[in-house]
Amino acid sequence: MFAQPFIDSSEFASQGKELRGEVAVSALPRLQDVLATGEGVIRYELRGYLDKEDRLMLELSLEGSCQPRCQRCLEAMTYPVRVISRLHLVEGELDEFADEDEAFDSIAATHQLDVVGLLEDELLLALPFAPRHAEGECVADSAGLSQPETNPFAVLAGLKSK
Ligand SMILES: [Zn+2]
Repeated sequence: MFAQPFIDSSEFASQGKELRGEVAVSALPRLQDVLATGEGVIRYELRGYLDKEDRLMLELSLEGSCQPRCQRCLEAMTYPVRVISRLHLVEGELDEFADEDEAFDSIAATHQLDVVGLLEDELLLALPFAPRHAEGECVADSAGLSQPETNPFAVLAGLKSK
């Protein structure tokens, strides 16, 4: 187990700090509910900066892979992770509508920002709602279950009887 990095978010942004590291997918508890396995590693890079309007910003880049469950065959599939999130640090009250037209989300500034927790939030948002194997890589194809009219419950029943 490695130390969980915490940062003073506003100071990190105003001083233009950077932080790099990697975290095992299996160490991200909230992801386990949506993934088929704990395989994979996520490399992250966090960069603080001030934007043109002097706003305190963080840019979080994620790269790696994880294994969600294919929604056709329900087997694990490798999903490549490539996410870049820009986050505006808001001191005081968060106005949930303030960033509606912006290319970034707003989060509350804190002296103890949990970098891995933030990474997990962004990864959860980035994962596809219904991931599927590519054409020809899905077990459902070879099992002859690829017809669109296949009842998903019939697939489930087939899996259970194995
Ligand atoms: Zn599949």
